[in-house]
Amino acid sequence: MEMIREYADWFYLIGAVLFILTLRGLSGPKTAIQGNRYGMIAMAIAVLTTFFVADNPVVWMIVGAMVAGAVVGIVRARTVPMTQMPETVALMHSLVGLAAVLIAIAAIIHNNKLIELGPDLLAANGVNFHEMSRVHLFELFVGCFVGAITFTASVFAYGKLAAKKWAKTISGAWVKPVQAIIFIAMLVFGFMFFSTGNMTAFWAMTALALVFGWVWIAPVGGGDMPVVVSLLNSFSGWAAAGIGFTLENNMLIVAGSLVGSSGAILSYIMCKAMNRSIINVLFGGAMGGTAAPTAGAGEQVQRNHRSGSADDAGFLMSNADSVVIVPGYGMAQGRAQNAVKELANILKEQGVTVRFAIHPVAGRMPGHMNVLLAEADVPYEDILEMDEINSDFPATDVVLVIGANDVVNPAAKDDPTSPIYGMPILEAHKARTIMVIKRSMATGYAGLDNDLFYNDKTMMIFGDAKKVVEDMTKAINGTGH
Ligand code: NDP
Repeated sequence: MEMIREYADWFYLIGAVLFILTLRGLSGPKTAIQGNRYGMIAMAIAVLTTFFVADNPVVWMIVGAMVAGAVVGIVRARTVPMTQMPETVALMHSLVGLAAVLIAIAAIIHNNKLIELGPDLLAANGVNFHEMSRVHLFELFVGCFVGAITFTASVFAYGKLAAKKWAKTISGAWVKPVQAIIFIAMLVFGFMFFSTGNMTAFWAMTALALVFGWVWIAPVGGGDMPVVVSLLNSFSGWAAAGIGFTLENNMLIVAGSLVGSSGAILSYIMCKAMNRSIINVLFGGAMGGTAAPTAGAGEQVQRNHRSGSADDAGFLMSNADSVVIVPGYGMAQGRAQNAVKELANILKEQGVTVRFAIHPVAGRMPGHMNVLLAEADVPYEDILEMDEINSDFPATDVVLVIGANDVVNPAAKDDPTSPIYGMPILEAHKARTIMVIKRSMATGYAGLDNDLFYNDKTMMIFGDAKKVVEDMTKAINGTGH
């Protein structure tokens, strides 16, 4: 144990290097599993080292909390269906935020208790105590308010992604002024706290930050959710880093900063993919821009579409030279990834070139489609990002859209009045034949009608993604080339 104390900084350094290797590993599907392993080892080193270097730890409490956390984590990881991953991720961000707030509160209460005891008593008991410096109070202020915002905003994001009734989108002219007032009041109380150490100001700041997290995210339009989810990821990292300063834990500072900065980079990439600016997302519609659409905003006009059967579609595909599969949220919802892999395999056996086209915001979380396809063991070389595949669509015989909607909506390119105008899309409409699997003509997440479904080249195949894909495979098996 003494040895661990003595070399704690070295252990933290090893942990930090492993965390960096984790991020490097997670940057590609082939290395992601190894990346995860590095992350697990780094986290184990960080937790154990911190445990052994703690001054006078209440061992039963720490071990109890660790066991309880591990049990909940293992049970959740084993039972969570892939379709509930996005909201689970949002919920985990909320826990990081809550932890930051609770640690800040504990640090301040602890500090105040020591002040109450008085310097003489502390000195007599050999406690080396310095009053918190301004810098220290500032760190607490940042860690606490970022944590509080992350907490309530993530809980709301969870509710929104899980379609809970209480996670209602708010709108109206009053929203922005109210947001501004709460934000400014929160900063004023925060400033009061770190300049005077006043506890009432601290509680007021924390309460306002909690409210702000909610009112900040509640009006965010459906189309902006991907960016918000990745921003919350980044915020949770900054909150952890702020608390790392409070606890004087280098590991937490490094790990928090890595999460914070990688989340910020991801948010930037997502913004680019959505053709939105970060300011526009954060202050939806202010600064002269327009807010992204909210679910349910689409108009319902009666138009004609063509529908066909899984058998027809299977026959057409087995006679094509090239097929591009565009998966979307519906593939996740229908848990169709394994069936899709089977379909791709059978087509390949028939000599068809099959590739997958991935939009950066397809599904409900960053990398959602990549995760599902990796789970189904689809070869990485068959999976292409939007920029890599878009120019190939005009030369593609069949594009098979499986439960995707917004990410293939041509209005984003052609209709300047559309709320998603300017968002880059997978240009499925340029393929020779388009097949779309979905259950009805309902809109997608952004709540918009989709011209692709009424295109002369499009055949709608109605039904649950998994069932339809399985039927297609059966049909192809029955026919041969
Ligand atoms: P969409 O939400 O636009 O469309 C999904 C379609 O799948 C629906 O139209 C639905 O139609 C169909 N569907 C649902 N369940 C099934 C099923 N079991 N079988 C067959 N079809 C099904 O999905 P996209 O992936 O195209 O776009 C993602 C959207 O989500 C974007 O608007 C994005 O901004 C947003 N978003 C993305 C996040 C991210 O990080 N990736 C996070 C939050 C939001 P029907 O009901 O008729 O079957």
